[in-house]
Amino acid sequence: MVSRVIPVDPFDLVIFGGTGDLAQRKILPALFRRYCAGQWPEDAQIIGAARGDHTPDEFRKMTAESLRQNAPMRAQDVDALNGFLQRVDYVSLDALSAEGWQSLAKKLKENRVRAFYFSVGPSLFGPLAERIRLHDMASEHTRIVVEKPFGHDLGSARALNATLAAHFDEGQIYRIDHYLGKETVQNLMAVRFGNMLFEPLWNSQYVDHIQITVAETVGIDGREDYYERAGAMRDMVQNHLMQLLCLIAMEPPAKFDPDAVRDEKLKVIRALDPVEPHHIVRGQFAAGPEGPGYRDVVSNPRSTTESYVALRAHVSNWRWAGTPFYLRTGKRLVARSSVINVMFKDAPHSIFGEEAGRHANALSIRLQPNEGITLKVTIKEPGPGGMRLIDVPLDMSFAEALGPENQDPPDAYERLVMDVIRGNQTLFMRGDEVEAAWAWTDPVIAGWQARGDVPKPYDSGSTGPGDAELLMKRDGRRWQGIKP
Ligand code: NAD
Repeated sequence: MVSRVIPVDPFDLVIFGGTGDLAQRKILPALFRRYCAGQWPEDAQIIGAARGDHTPDEFRKMTAESLRQNAPMRAQDVDALNGFLQRVDYVSLDALSAEGWQSLAKKLKENRVRAFYFSVGPSLFGPLAERIRLHDMASEHTRIVVEKPFGHDLGSARALNATLAAHFDEGQIYRIDHYLGKETVQNLMAVRFGNMLFEPLWNSQYVDHIQITVAETVGIDGREDYYERAGAMRDMVQNHLMQLLCLIAMEPPAKFDPDAVRDEKLKVIRALDPVEPHHIVRGQFAAGPEGPGYRDVVSNPRSTTESYVALRAHVSNWRWAGTPFYLRTGKRLVARSSVINVMFKDAPHSIFGEEAGRHANALSIRLQPNEGITLKVTIKEPGPGGMRLIDVPLDMSFAEALGPENQDPPDAYERLVMDVIRGNQTLFMRGDEVEAAWAWTDPVIAGWQARGDVPKPYDSGSTGPGDAELLMKRDGRRWQGIKP
């Protein structure tokens, strides 16, 4: 089964910060893969725009090198590379001065989709938006794309929203959370709302609890200054984990339409109870065989920034009253693994007696690596003798059904950038969602600061601090393993 490629309309995509890490490592490779897939119309163009003084040829060379490193190429893709590079241009430009803007304006074509990707620090979002307007580059077909971090707290997020709103309508602003572009995240919605099987059970009557884990093996290398100011709560929980929580917990939207979906997500965030201090564990990785500890790599040897958070959240509405959501994320953990586990309740009565043990279903939605969905079901252990029960995975990695050409789903950025061109905001965060997420996160961080909270050290390569295990144990539950 070959997935359908629907070509997009002609577009100009300007990447501010085109020479930066994100553009070179993620955005341009994603665009190249969509080009190879035949999704580009004939005369689409990409214009890198950054402060560096490069000629278009130098930028193309830099891009070709990045593509070779970051976009695995088949023989036919190597042939396509030249065609792609012919669509790539460059302007040296400063967001904070008039330099380069006239040249950029001249390169843009009329009457087509015009997208501006702000792949730069958030302090430049306002100046860029202002200059796009000033140079008359914005039309009704204009979209802007902004990257995380979207603010540092509620106040700064509000200010950023207001700055962008002064120049663009909300319908033109695409706030990226790349987790939403993952194939499995969208499959989660398809599984929930496209099947009769799951939705009737998707509530506190049948679901005991939900676990959302985003574990990373990497540390904070190269991002020390940013991370020291952010920590895991701002860097991961406020955006990625909350977005996943929303998709799991939201009510069925009336249709798969950007505002209908985002309205339902917003209701979930607004229904979240404040987190009790004893329902949250912070950790900081210590030195180990894999490398130095957190405090060894940041400038402050007494830093209290957390590289790990585990917390118990409650969505106070009819559907979820009494079903806790356990969220955890951390750096330098035992494996790279992002997974949502929906843990169903035990059957109310076991006809098989004590010796059959206790069994419950679990639906695991793996985001990375090896995207896929697994349903754990209870069956009889094969062989003669008594009725012994075991839990086995009913694997829905979809590989067999979909065929080998679908084993390698498109990278999240491929889908998201094409959605920008198509003008589909469903998988992007709306301004009010981001603000609501900060409104929930801010008091947690303020509480730590007020109490002078110090994160618990944990071993690099472990599953996090022991207190996170206790958080579950106290509730008579346990975390699922963190497996690669
Ligand atoms: P980077 O430092 O590698 O690149 C920054 C780019 O901005 C460069 O091209 C630079 O020339 C350009 N730039 C800086 N000042 C400018 C100015 N005044 N005018 C015009 N151009 C200017 O940064 P990055 O890692 O690519 O990150 C860009 C943004 O994306 C940041 O906000 C970052 O937090 C966010 N982000 C990055 C990643 C990632 O994996 N790198 C992931 C998520 C979000």
